Amino acid sequence: MFLREITGKIQYLKGIGPRLASRFEKLGVVTIADLLLHAPRTYEDRGEITPINRTPGKERAHVIATVAAHDYLGFGRKRTLKVYVRDSSGVACLVCFGRDFLERVFVIGGRFFISGSFVYRFGEIQCSAFDYLPAQDYEKKKNKVFPLYPLTEGLFQKTIQGAMERALAEYGPGIDDELPPSIREKYGFPAKRDALAAVHFPADQAALDRGRAALVYEELFYLEITILRAALLRKTKRPARRSIVFDLKKRLLARLPFRLTADQERAISEIERDLFSDLPLYRLLQGDVGSGKTLVALIAALDAIESGDQAVFMAPTELLARQHAETAASLVEPLGVRIALLVGSLEQSARDRLRASLRAGEIDLLVGTHALFSGDVEYKRLGLAIIDEQHRFGVLQRKALAGKGAVPDLLLMTATPIPRSLALTAFGDLDSTLIKTKPPGRMKVITHLTREGNEAKVYERVRAELAAGRQAYFVYPLIEESEKIDLKNAIDMYENLARSVFPEFRFGLIHSRVSEEEKRETMEKFVRGEIDALVATSVVEVGVDVPNATALVVEHAERFGLSALHQLRGRVGRSARQSYSFLVYGRTLTPDAVRRLKIMLSTDDGFAVAEEDLKIRGPGALLGVMQSGFLSLSFADLIRDADVLLRAKADAAALLSDDPGLLSADTGVVREVLERVPPFPADFLETG
Ligand code: ADP
Ligand code: MG
Repeated sequence: MFLREITGKIQYLKGIGPRLASRFEKLGVVTIADLLLHAPRTYEDRGEITPINRTPGKERAHVIATVAAHDYLGFGRKRTLKVYVRDSSGVACLVCFGRDFLERVFVIGGRFFISGSFVYRFGEIQCSAFDYLPAQDYEKKKNKVFPLYPLTEGLFQKTIQGAMERALAEYGPGIDDELPPSIREKYGFPAKRDALAAVHFPADQAALDRGRAALVYEELFYLEITILRAALLRKTKRPARRSIVFDLKKRLLARLPFRLTADQERAISEIERDLFSDLPLYRLLQGDVGSGKTLVALIAALDAIESGDQAVFMAPTELLARQHAETAASLVEPLGVRIALLVGSLEQSARDRLRASLRAGEIDLLVGTHALFSGDVEYKRLGLAIIDEQHRFGVLQRKALAGKGAVPDLLLMTATPIPRSLALTAFGDLDSTLIKTKPPGRMKVITHLTREGNEAKVYERVRAELAAGRQAYFVYPLIEESEKIDLKNAIDMYENLARSVFPEFRFGLIHSRVSEEEKRETMEKFVRGEIDALVATSVVEVGVDVPNATALVVEHAERFGLSALHQLRGRVGRSARQSYSFLVYGRTLTPDAVRRLKIMLSTDDGFAVAEEDLKIRGPGALLGVMQSGFLSLSFADLIRDADVLLRAKADAAALLSDDPGLLSADTGVVREVLERVPPFPADFLETG
C-alpha cells in the first residue's frame, strides 16, 4: 500500500475518540496518512536532566521527579489541579490548567520525566505547559531526541506522539516504497516505512537525517515529475488560432481616453505572439497594483474572441468579478462583444438561461468567480482563460477551468510578484511578463503613520478630501467586537464615523458577512459617488478600482501583513489626483510590525514591498501561502531544500527522457503512484 492510500480515519485509532479527532482535524490531520505526514516542526534533545532547583531561568528544562502531592487551586468546575513533584534538589508545582485527567496519571509516588519551562511564581517553582513521560519509558529510549510537532489547542506533544506510535505500529509494515529502486540505491535511502519511523521516532541523529533526506527527496522528486510531465503535455502542439486583423483591439484603443504604456504594449505583444502560435499560451502577467493589467487582459480576450473563441475572466471575489464585468461592459460591449457575469449568487433560472446561451456560443466573454467552472457550465468554444490574482486560486480550480476547453490558453495575473526561481519550480515552465511602470501622471500616494489616539487629525484630513468631492476608504481588522481582542471593528466604527464624526457625509459598510447583493449595491453606490466613504474589512483589499477615491485610512495597521497593506494602499492613487494613505497603529507593536510600517512609509513599489515582506517573513511564509494553495509538501521546503530540488529535477528529467511512458520495472512504481495517489494535482493541461 502507498502511504496516501491509508485513508482510514485516525478517529478509529485506539485512544483517539471523536473529541481528539476534531482537534487533530484543526491541524489538517484526518486520516492515518495525514497523521504520518504530519512532520515534526523541530526536534529537541532531551538528554540533559536538570535538578529542579536549577530549572528557573532556563527556556526549557527536563527533569526526572517523583509525584509528592496533589492540590487544587479554586473550587468547583473552575478548579485547577496542581501536582507537586520532587527530586533530590527541590520541589516543583505542575499547574494542570484544564487537564484534570492528569490526577489519574500522576499517581503519588510515580516517577516521571517532565519537560517544560519552569519559573518562580508565588514563592514556588511552577511549570504550566509541560510534556511528560513515565520515567522508565524515558530511560528506555536510547536516543533522547524528541520530535516537536505543530500543535493546536487541546493537543499536546504527547498525544501526537502516542497516536503516531500506534499508527506506525499498525500500518507501518504495510507501507510500500514510492521511489524507483535505482534511485533509492543511488542515494542509499532507507525503505519508506523506515524513513517514516526514523522521522517520528529517531533512534539517533544519523537515522533521523537519513530518514528525513529520503522523505524530502521523494516529495521533491514527485513535484518535478509532475511539473515535467505537465510541461511535456503543454508543449503538445494545437491547431493555431485563425489569424485576425485585430479589428476589435484597434477599435477599443481608439475609444480609450489614454494611450497604452510601453509596458502594456510589450505585454500585449508577448501575449499575442503566444495566442497565435501553435503552442498554448501559459503566461503569468505580473504588475503592481494599478499598473493596468486588466486592460491588457481585456485586449487578449478581444483577440481570442475575434478569432472565434470564447474567453473567460475569473476573479477571486464576487465584488471584483462584478467590477471587471462592468469595466469590460463599458469598454467592449460598444464593440459588439457579448458579455455576461456568472457568480455563485446568481439565481437558478438566470443561471440556466446563461448556461444555455454559453453553450450556444451567444456569449463571447464570461466574467465571474470560480462559479465559472462548476460542473454544469459548458462552453461552446473556450479558448482563453484569464485568471486575476492567481495566487488566490489553487491549481485544482485552474485545472477544472481548463478542463472546459480543448487546450485553452491561460493568462494568469498577479500583483504579488513571485521570485523567478520559485515560479519556475512551482509552475513549471510558466512564461512571465512584467509590467514595471504605471500609467503616466500618477502621483505617489502620500503615506502617513499615525499613532492611535491621534485619529482626530487623520479624520480632519479625510474631511478635507470628502469636502472636495473625493471619496475615502476606512479599513478595520475585524468585522465586529471580539471578546478576545480589543480592537476597533468595522461595524462599530461605521456607526461612529457615519453618526458622530462625519454626519455630513454618506457612509457605506462592507465586510465578508454582508450579503453579495448588499455588497454589490453598496459598491455601486460608491462607484457612482452616492456614497462618500466606505467602511470595510480587508474585503476591499484586492483589485477594487474607484479612481475618485483619494484617501485611505487603515486603523490597527499593525495587524495587517505587508502585502495586504500594499494592496489596500493600491485602492487609492488611481487617478492623476494626489492621494493619501493614513496608517493608524495601535499601542502594542511587535518589532516586525514596526518594520512593516516603516517599509510602507519608505516605498510604494510593490516589488520592493514584496521583497521586504519576504525578508521579514522568510521565504517559507510566501511558500506557505503558495503551498497551501496547491503544493502539499509535508517534509520538504522549496527554499531550504533547494539543492535537493535541483538533484530531484535532474533525476526526474533523466528518468523521463529514458523512459517517458514509465514502463520499465524500475520506474513502474512512479507510474503507479501517479495513477493511484498523485501527490500533486496534475497540472491543468493534463485534462485538456
Ligand atoms: P491593476 O489590475 O493592474 O491593478 P487596473 O487594470 O485596475 O490595474 O488599472 C488601474 C487603472 O488605470 C484603471 O482605472 C485603468 O482604467 C487605468 N489605466 C490602465 N491603463 C492605463 C493607461 N495606459 N493610461 C492611463 N490609465 C490607465
Ligand atoms: Mg487588478
